[in-house]
Amino acid sequence: MPSSSLGELLAAVVARAVVDFEDRNAYVRGGSAVHAVATVRWLGDLEVPAPLCHVGVSGGELAALRPTTAPVTCRRCLRKQGADELAALPSTEQLPLFPFRR
Ligand SMILES: [Zn+2]
Repeated sequence: MPSSSLGELLAAVVARAVVDFEDRNAYVRGGSAVHAVATVRWLGDLEVPAPLCHVGVSGGELAALRPTTAPVTCRRCLRKQGADELAALPSTEQLPLFPFRR
């Protein structure tokens, strides 16, 4: 096994990106909207920062994403953030965990 595989190089790039986007929002190169950042699974084991709404960028376009401290303006990101907050509230109605269990 080579000591520096492509996977390790990618992991280093991704680790740096995760630090860059920690506590940051992001805009996509060429766009004006500021997106919330979420990590998404990319190439199996790696988790990379990406717009929460998944618009415009796939993992392969990590370089198109720029960190910013500007507030989120993307409507879809804002809506998703709101949905997450709602989902985090304790639910009074429990859904069956395994609806298809035989
Ligand atoms: Zn967005």
